Amino acid sequence: MTSQRTRIRMIERLREQGIIDEFVLNAMNIVPRHLFVEAALASRAYEDVSLPINFGQTISSPWTVARMTALLREKAKHPLEKVLEIGTGCGYQTAILSRIAREVYSIERIGPLLTRTRIRLLKMGVRNVFLRHADGMLGLPEAGPYNGIILTAFIREIPEALLGQLSIGGRVVFPRGDRKQHLCLIEHTTEGFVESVLDEVMFVPMLPGTVNR
Ligand code: SAH
Repeated sequence: MTSQRTRIRMIERLREQGIIDEFVLNAMNIVPRHLFVEAALASRAYEDVSLPINFGQTISSPWTVARMTALLREKAKHPLEKVLEIGTGCGYQTAILSRIAREVYSIERIGPLLTRTRIRLLKMGVRNVFLRHADGMLGLPEAGPYNGIILTAFIREIPEALLGQLSIGGRVVFPRGDRKQHLCLIEHTTEGFVESVLDEVMFVPMLPGTVNR
């Protein structure tokens, strides 16, 4: 149930659901999603559902990860240069990003969750990812600007600090809202920021501060 065949079926389903970006499908075909959830849930890792990880957080469904990654890439012919992720969680989205960008910076507020994820990604040989334990609302200005910024927890409005770290031509993808949430895409054009509101989604909230144990 965690075999390559199961993963291929997930890719076929994603295609049927309208994901056409081959870069994204290829990344999702390679990254073993079952290694990002508890062993007891591994057999469900390739279903199109979000699943609990630890510390009350969830791993997003395959479709959500694929959709957000495709929006970030916007059919680019090459890997993106630098991407920033807020909300590392179990690191699945991070591992997918590591295959579509040269450098990935990812921030997580829950220390012990990040420690496990750090070990997991190291074991998998993911090398182009820089993890940081911090409150991600301020981003990581010292490594920016970024071609893409992705938030994996919902928020009412995108912090100004994050928009300031987006290069021209760059894109931010995040779930916006409260009880009802929608994926929101903000493009940084030479004319300014252009926003689109897309699919309805369900995420855990973006929270302030850090948790150390
Ligand atoms: N992409 C992750 C999603 C995890 S859920 C995965 O697939 O596993 C969202 C994550 O965002 C949680 O781990 C949560 O702790 C983290 N988070 C919430 N608010 C945050 C903040 N202000 N800064 C950094 N991380 C935050």
